[in-house]
Amino acid sequence: MIASNIATVQSRVQRACNIFERNPASVGILAVSKTKPIAAIREAYAAGQRHFGENYAQELFEKVDANIGDDIAWHFIGPMQSNKTRGIAERASWVHSVDRVKIAKRLNDQRPTKAPPLNICIQVNIDDEPTKSGVSTTEVITLAKRIHELPHLKLRGLMAIPTPHADEARTRRSFQKVAELLSEINDLTEFKDTPLDTLSMGMSADLELAIAEGSTMVRVGTDIFGAREKKHDQ
Ligand SMILES: *Cc1c(COP(=O)(O)O)cnc(C)c1O
Repeated sequence: MIASNIATVQSRVQRACNIFERNPASVGILAVSKTKPIAAIREAYAAGQRHFGENYAQELFEKVDANIGDDIAWHFIGPMQSNKTRGIAERASWVHSVDRVKIAKRLNDQRPTKAPPLNICIQVNIDDEPTKSGVSTTEVITLAKRIHELPHLKLRGLMAIPTPHADEARTRRSFQKVAELLSEINDLTEFKDTPLDTLSMGMSADLELAIAEGSTMVRVGTDIFGAREKKHDQ
């Protein structure tokens, strides 16, 4: 079941890449396993999936510590409290949800020195929703420059979750704004030699639209693992 769901998501990505003239190798699939049991992750792993995303720190810790496979790359994609940064810095390969300097500094200071730099995406509140996490579009550049100075972090790009719209054109415009912000950052002298290469955008319902606008990593939960229980969902 999970294996065939992964195959379906892979073919959706392929198809979108064909339509929008993207190289399929440039779009990765992050399997979002939040709230799902370790058995489900093992099933996805057996089907070849290697990148997994988690939203809740405690759940990330338990799943990483279950040693499902040592070639798994764990991505933390949820809101972060200061008292959880150490466990995340010790276990994750990527964090997609950095939206303030204080958290970035803690991740930098707590990253084990023998580990490679932690890959970071800045979460952008692209539609300026008052209740949503993420830095505002006007503050992205300042935050990017600050993270760039931290030696144990490697800034890779931007993550965003647009306001859900029935209107696909509006969703695409939001994704397009994220891509434009990434180019703006890459135009800065600080990033000339090592441009950011990651746009973490698109989920089960809108991954094709995100690929149309340049996504390099789609984060897919429901369409791989099935619907989640509402109360523990975000
Ligand atoms: C839950 C979640 C996803 C996956 O969403 P689906 O609609 O289930 O594919 C992706 N990104 C983030 C940040 C999430 O919290």
